[in-house]
Amino acid sequence: MSDEPLTRRNFMKSAAAVAAAARLSAGSAAEQKKTVGIQVGAVSFVDEGTEQVLDILQQRGAVNTIFLAVFTYGRGIAGRQIPGQPLPDHGKQEYDLDFHGGNYASVHPEFYRDTGIRPEDTRAPDHGQLDIVAEVLPKARARGMRVFLWAEDVWRTDIPGIEKLQEIDLYGRRTNRLCLNNPYHRNFLLGLFEDYTRSYDIDGIMWGSERHGALGNALSLSHGGAGDPARVGCFCAYCEAKCKREGRFDFQRVKEGYLELERWVRACRAGERPVDGYYVTFLRLLMRYPELLAWEQFFHDSLRELYRLLRERVRSIKSHVLVGWHIWHNNSFSPFYRAQQDVRQLSQCSDFLKVVMYHNCAGERMARYIDNVATTLFGDLSKQHALEFHYRILNYAERSYDEIPFTGFSADYVARETRRALEAAQGTQVQIWPGIDIDIPTDPKHSKSSPEGTRAAVRAALQAGAHGIILSRKYSEMRLANLEAAGEAVREFLKG
Ligand SMILES: [Zn+2]
Repeated sequence: MSDEPLTRRNFMKSAAAVAAAARLSAGSAAEQKKTVGIQVGAVSFVDEGTEQVLDILQQRGAVNTIFLAVFTYGRGIAGRQIPGQPLPDHGKQEYDLDFHGGNYASVHPEFYRDTGIRPEDTRAPDHGQLDIVAEVLPKARARGMRVFLWAEDVWRTDIPGIEKLQEIDLYGRRTNRLCLNNPYHRNFLLGLFEDYTRSYDIDGIMWGSERHGALGNALSLSHGGAGDPARVGCFCAYCEAKCKREGRFDFQRVKEGYLELERWVRACRAGERPVDGYYVTFLRLLMRYPELLAWEQFFHDSLRELYRLLRERVRSIKSHVLVGWHIWHNNSFSPFYRAQQDVRQLSQCSDFLKVVMYHNCAGERMARYIDNVATTLFGDLSKQHALEFHYRILNYAERSYDEIPFTGFSADYVARETRRALEAAQGTQVQIWPGIDIDIPTDPKHSKSSPEGTRAAVRAALQAGAHGIILSRKYSEMRLANLEAAGEAVREFLKG
């Protein structure tokens, strides 16, 4: 870009500004000031009718931007309600037990090169030949709504050829994660982003990768279940070659360090308290093998490199299409993961960030995170003490370990997290759009979304100055009263 004449760049910028202004004037001026987004999967439009869903989103949710789930093999953002969870008060009243996933748009193979898998094989079979983007985009646009395509890093293991893209674990076995440094995987994502950008008149693309590196996985530094410290990655030839090329540290030492860490995690989980304590012996491992931390940094550097490549590909085709990232909820729990989510650094490869701040399920999830770290790293603390330590360093004032699964987090958490992201983003162009929890499934005994809680969370994000919000995770799991509460909070805020 730097060798381009300044005049041309200025012209392109002003052309993009004119296009943006035209899009703004299409909708109600007041509601367009903030991005009021919602994540929706194809199944909702199929089940309920495109115009009917758009009516509900606009009228009840005050929504002006659709985040259309177009590429995923996961049920978190696509498909109907997760089987076993109560069905919401709209849509087909049955579970889609045959959910498959994939690409819900048309696949244009000419945009994919050297991808290891056939792009046609990723076409989602769930709704026949329906192209959900072609179906929804013109109808949303006619109402002045913006459309972002929403994709995530969740794959099936039965796609022909997928093994060529997969990570390799500590013992040389394939995992079901895809390697960030694998050229086939990178080429596929670049092709997918190019396909979406060239084939449709979209406003933007959001992609989400809910993953961390080997250190995070070995220690289970997240709200998922306790993972196997032997299944960490990635130790494939591409990662080894990149490590050697960069010359920052020694690949063999990385492996040795992770084998030591595996033994330590297994012993801790078996209740064998090290003589010098859990925390001290973990520090000892880190000092003997600084490669443990370096390999985690290597993972996140690779992810940010991929972010940059994807955004550059899109922006080189259509300079007005925005590209940004869903930032995993683990950003709210693990200080290790949060340390890698430096908004100022991310702003260099992002037009917007959907920073997840799911207040209701945060209670259950924080408690699970504490369960994980209280058996290893913080094994010398009680769970309540470990939680208090995290509240201090993450800057929260929430309830006790025994209470949070049943109460969730408060709107104050949303306000604090929004302010933190905005302060970090100051002086950059990046837009901060907090992800708001509406009916994200929790254990049957645990707290559930309510109209009051949803209203308070939306209000907290907007009053803290967020550039917008994204109602999450998918319309097909939301109850209408909660969606309506979000819409009311938006309208109250806009009225001032
Ligand atoms: Zn690899």
